[in-house]
Amino acid sequence: MPELPEVETVRSGLEKRIVNCKIEEVKVLREKTLSKISAQEFCEKLKGQTFIAIKRRAKNLFLEMKSGLVIGVHLKMSGSFLIQPASEEIPKHTHVIFILENKMELRFKDLRAFGRMNLFSSWEEAGEQASITKLAPEPISENFSFDYFKEALQKYKSPIKPLLLEQSKVVSGLGNIYADESLFLSGIQPTRPANSITKLEAEKLYKAIKKVIIDSIKVGGTSIRDYVDTDGQLGNYALQLNVYGRKKQKCLICDSPIQFIKLAQRGTHFCLNCQR
Ligand SMILES: [Zn+2]
Repeated sequence: MPELPEVETVRSGLEKRIVNCKIEEVKVLREKTLSKISAQEFCEKLKGQTFIAIKRRAKNLFLEMKSGLVIGVHLKMSGSFLIQPASEEIPKHTHVIFILENKMELRFKDLRAFGRMNLFSSWEEAGEQASITKLAPEPISENFSFDYFKEALQKYKSPIKPLLLEQSKVVSGLGNIYADESLFLSGIQPTRPANSITKLEAEKLYKAIKKVIIDSIKVGGTSIRDYVDTDGQLGNYALQLNVYGRKKQKCLICDSPIQFIKLAQRGTHFCLNCQR
C-alpha cells in the first residue's frame, strides 16, 4: 500500500504537471472506481474544468478545480496516476481517463481495483467526508512536536509498533515500512509497551520518524510493489531500507539475523540485538 511519502510524491508530481490544465473530456472505463456518483454525472460535471490545486490530507488526494469542485482520490493498494500523450496506448487496468487540452491524458490505473474516486462540491465538503479531523498529526506537520509525541506515547500501554500505525492515535501517515525502519533507527523493539518508552528513547524515535518520512519524500517514496509516480518512474528508497523486507538477512549494524514476526496482523522486522 502506498504510504504517506508515496502519496506526497504523487501529489507533487500532479501539481507540477496538471495545475492550470483544462479537462476536455473524462472517460470512465470502470464505474465501480467511482464512489457515490454515476459515471455520467462525473464526466458531465468535470468536462471543461481546470485543475488549480492538488492537496493531500493523510493518504487522501484532492484535485481542486477552478470552479470549486474537488475530486477526492484514495489510491488504496495499487492506484497510480500516469500522465501520457493521448497517442500512447492505454495501459491495462486503466479505470479513469482525463483527456487534457494539450493532447495529454491523465490516466488512473489500478491493478487491484481498490482505489476510489469521488466528487465534492467544495473543499469544505471534501474535508468533512474524508474524516480528516479524526487523524492524529502527520510527522511533517507543525502539530507534531516532541512534547506532543512524548506525552501521546505515555497514554498507551499497547505495543509501540501497531500504535504507530493507528492513524487516529499518536501519528498519522506512518505505514508499515516506515514504522519498522523508525523503530530500528531508534533502537526500540516493536513489542515494547508505548508507555515504557523513556524520554531519551522517545526523542530518538521522534527524530527517526521525521527523518524516514522526510528522506523518503525527497527521493520519491519507496517502491516495494506496484507504486509508480506520475512519470512512470519507480522511487528508490527501497535501496536504503535497514530492516523492512530483510527477514533472516544480516543486520547492517551487528550481523545478527533480522527477526520477522506478526504483530497485530502486520509483518514486523527488527534486530533483537540492536533494538531493546
Ligand atoms: Zn543489529
